[in-house]
Amino acid sequence: MNYQKNDILCLRITDMGNDGEGIGKTEDGYTLFVKDAVIGDKVQVKIIKAKKSYGYGRLMEVLEPSPDRVEPLCPQARPCGGCQLQALSYEKQLEYKQNRVKSHLERIGGFSDIPMEPIIGMEEPYYYRNKAQFPVGRNKEGRIVTGFYAGRTHSIVETRRCYLGVLGNEEILNRVIDWMEENQVEPYDEKSGSGLVRHILIRYGFSSGEWMVCLVINGDKLPAKERLIRTLIEINGMTSITANVNTRRDNVILGEKILPVWGQTYITDQIGEVSYEISPLSFYQVNPLQTRKLYEKALEYAKLQGNEVVWDLYCGIGTISLFLAQKAKKVYGVEIVPDAVRDAKRNAKINGMKNVEFFVGKAEEILPKKRKSEGVYADVIVVDPPRKGCDRALLDTILEMGPRRVVYVSCDSATLARDLKYLCGDGGYRLEKVCPVDQFGMTVHVETICLLERK
Ligand code: SAH
Repeated sequence: MNYQKNDILCLRITDMGNDGEGIGKTEDGYTLFVKDAVIGDKVQVKIIKAKKSYGYGRLMEVLEPSPDRVEPLCPQARPCGGCQLQALSYEKQLEYKQNRVKSHLERIGGFSDIPMEPIIGMEEPYYYRNKAQFPVGRNKEGRIVTGFYAGRTHSIVETRRCYLGVLGNEEILNRVIDWMEENQVEPYDEKSGSGLVRHILIRYGFSSGEWMVCLVINGDKLPAKERLIRTLIEINGMTSITANVNTRRDNVILGEKILPVWGQTYITDQIGEVSYEISPLSFYQVNPLQTRKLYEKALEYAKLQGNEVVWDLYCGIGTISLFLAQKAKKVYGVEIVPDAVRDAKRNAKINGMKNVEFFVGKAEEILPKKRKSEGVYADVIVVDPPRKGCDRALLDTILEMGPRRVVYVSCDSATLARDLKYLCGDGGYRLEKVCPVDQFGMTVHVETICLLERK
């Protein structure tokens, strides 16, 4: 049949796509992608875009709910761009993530009989994020509002209670918005580029109980500063209030300059035994409880006895490096962002760790260079690259150095599968273990950690 825009049809959802959308087929084999429908639902759909063999549909009605369909906690779950899977039970979310990792390794990596460990899920799949960036604006009625962007747009879905974050965020948002209203502080308007407050960045140290509030402002002065301080420091654990200057007209949330407002310009948090200082600009894992489980897995896979030399590539602020340094002779970290390396060095210092060293630069340049000029060596190499995976030049250097073990931490199982294929193909490594770790409940993202052993 020839399907067209605005056609209405009924179908069963049988699969789920990479963005968490439901996928179903009509009886004559036409595939429809339906946002907000979950596996097992029978749905009525209106076609919003029709291609020859597939199309996109809007969910009109759930005719028969899937046995795995649940009521989202958040009333804004559907319009908000932050979550994709709230209507699916958490058990099914985990199953979906586990299957996706497995199928990428099979289809892209060419592996069979994959040594998969069961996915490590969260005990509490809500309230896990330690960081949130709330955009501020005005709604149609002219009131100051905050919330999250709707998927793929910059219209604000109003909410002060995000169920992925800590509940204490809400009280901070209430106080900041009240302060703005009482003192005529204007929210930023993207269209005209006028107004002051762009985003409210909040961070919370799960172990330390310390709060950080950073207002991202389109200017370099905060009016009625004392009143803002007075209201925020009533909150238990308030440790750092700052402003971040961002006068750009694009989508980048944070500018480079931090203005101290009250207290410290950073908070401290711990993962396991290791402490980290976090400033508004630092990268820090957003789910500290699951991060700890991930790093413990990394430690388990690395099988350190205390006399090993370890290279931690793509090391960020040195989180994995410091974790491994507790059990290794020496850890070298490589990271491309100079500020992150500065934080890494600082974190080594506050933890009194002397057996770590950090280098700024591209992993695929630093490691080959050091190998050539100094003959550096590794017992274990850990990589934790961004979504695009590792550069070929780096994989070649790893193969040439031939460490006993490679621990690969990945946030994109497709590029992971591609890289593992290269290392395990003629490369001389064997895939020993694979373990997905869910760091981001209610979203489609999943981390995976793998152990490779030299054959
Ligand atoms: N291992 C860290 C961070 C991993 S995120 C942690 O667990 O916290 C990936 C990191 O790789 C980012 O910090 C990014 O800045 C860095 N990066 C991206 N491309 C890189 C490259 N070519 N060489 C080295 N680091 C890179």
